[in-house]
Amino acid sequence: MSENCIFCKIAKKEISSHKIYEDEVVFAFEDINPKAPIHIIIIPKKHIVSLCDVSCKEEQILGHIQIVASKISKQFKEMKNGFRIINNCGVDAGQTVFHIHYHLLGGRVFE
Ligand code: 5GP
Ligand code: ZN
Repeated sequence: MSENCIFCKIAKKEISSHKIYEDEVVFAFEDINPKAPIHIIIIPKKHIVSLCDVSCKEEQILGHIQIVASKISKQFKEMKNGFRIINNCGVDAGQTVFHIHYHLLGGRVFE
């Protein structure tokens, strides 16, 4: 937990969100400003700042996030033909929340 981190607070339910999935490692919730019919944010419960700043010790967590994305996609008929995962890493990539997160997008065809 990092103080004043909005995603740590969401994972700890100190800030409300529409939860989609949770286990001991990750938390997933609807994005407040969706860019697709399905737009889910998947975060590790551990506070990691960004993909720019990970090491091998995060390997299991980061792998787990991809398995969870696949698992969540199966809950939505809108993603039966595919989905997109995006990670914005750092300011130049458009990262605005500095707790690593993956956008899971679906329900439309992406260019
Ligand atoms: P980034 O731009 O850092 O890759 O993505 C951050 C995402 O978090 C944005 O899509 C934004 O809409 C979402 N977001 C920011 N604050 C909140 C919040 O308080 N609740 C929810 N559900 N999503 C948020
Ligand atoms: Zn955090």
